[in-house]
Amino acid sequence: MKFSDYRISPDIKQNLEKLGFKKPTDIQYKSIPPILNGEDVLAIAQTGTGKTASFAIPVIHLLQGRKRNDRPSGVRCLIMVPTRELAMQINEAIRTIGKGTNVKTCAIVGGVAQDPQIAQLEKGTDIVVATPGRLFDLISQGYLNLDRVEVLILDEADHMLDLGFINDIKGVITKIPKQRQTLFFSATIDERIKKLAYSIVRKAIRIQISPKNPVAKNITHSVAFIEMDDKRFFLERLIKENEDQKILVFVRTQVRAERVAKAMERVQIKAVTIHGGKDQKDRLKVMESFKNNHVKVLIATDVSARGIDVPGVNQVVNYDIPEQTENYVHRVGRTGRGTQKGLAIAFCSEEEKPLLTDIEDYIGQKITVQKINQEDYNHTLDYSEEHPHDWKSLLKEAETPKPKKKHKKRK
Ligand code: AMP
Repeated sequence: MKFSDYRISPDIKQNLEKLGFKKPTDIQYKSIPPILNGEDVLAIAQTGTGKTASFAIPVIHLLQGRKRNDRPSGVRCLIMVPTRELAMQINEAIRTIGKGTNVKTCAIVGGVAQDPQIAQLEKGTDIVVATPGRLFDLISQGYLNLDRVEVLILDEADHMLDLGFINDIKGVITKIPKQRQTLFFSATIDERIKKLAYSIVRKAIRIQISPKNPVAKNITHSVAFIEMDDKRFFLERLIKENEDQKILVFVRTQVRAERVAKAMERVQIKAVTIHGGKDQKDRLKVMESFKNNHVKVLIATDVSARGIDVPGVNQVVNYDIPEQTENYVHRVGRTGRGTQKGLAIAFCSEEEKPLLTDIEDYIGQKITVQKINQEDYNHTLDYSEEHPHDWKSLLKEAETPKPKKKHKKRK
């Protein structure tokens, strides 16, 4: 089945063609028809599977076909998402897929001035893509009216619950008409997700994508066993040997993100970082430079993982093995997006091996081991422009809380 065979407006078909979307992905194939039929949908789908378009396409079509209500500020579709980055991306995707239709969209997110958002609401919008905080602010200030909402979408519901948005979500739902279509998306499912889902959907069509393997099919996974202190040399080599590639590196903490970036800087590799410690303006700047290929290496923490939808990420490096298994899925989902192929490699130290086993259990597959013989391992350390011993002493210095000895001069 091709998009050209779907019962959707010619404008949308044309936009999909321009985007290079020919065939629907699994989730799109399963969810577009019921959504077009006005059904509620409960979908367990991971990011990278094409889930944004799976709701954007039918919702834009439905809104385009229905009569616009007379109140300019009457929002007809509300999309709630956990992060600002995701809100901006979904807003952008809707704008692109809905180009030439009369369907208007805007993003309501915190961390930036509210006046331009209010101005957009006053001009009239059909769709609002929002994070809970700013959404509440604007509702309580009287700028946003939800009593005309026909479609409610919760995206990455599990992440919203992880971030503690449950009461905000419930609060918003009380302001939306009961007679509506509800679409509920989550990457993972457990008791709390089910409880929330069943409290807001009615007789939903359930869709699950690859239940046994939550990771997108077009990603090749592997793991290499590398000692903690040696990881940066392997990263240096991987980046230098793949100069043309866009590489996304995941680390556990903000501090590690900055340290790895510094280590790369010392060996002449340009890298940028994104994590919760950066303000929104910085994060946007960083994402732009990575998107536009000004910088090919982005070092990120899990907090920012889900919001990153950058086309053409060739490799995801799990520089640290994630402590929460489901984060593995979100991290590697940044590559192999849509119909593209992607590579994911994990650097696993001896002490991280139990975490790796947990991940394999979770995704229901063994991750292929990239064997490194001793000679090659040593070669990688020698390959580095920074002498391993110097680095080790640097690392020790950095991790000693109160250095009594004199610091060695940094290179
Ligand atoms: P998502 O899971 O919505 O974050 O989408 C992941 C990526 O897949 C995005 O970069 C989309 O542009 C891309 N994509 C979505 N649907 C298709 C499709 N049918 N064909 C090709 N690429 C797609």
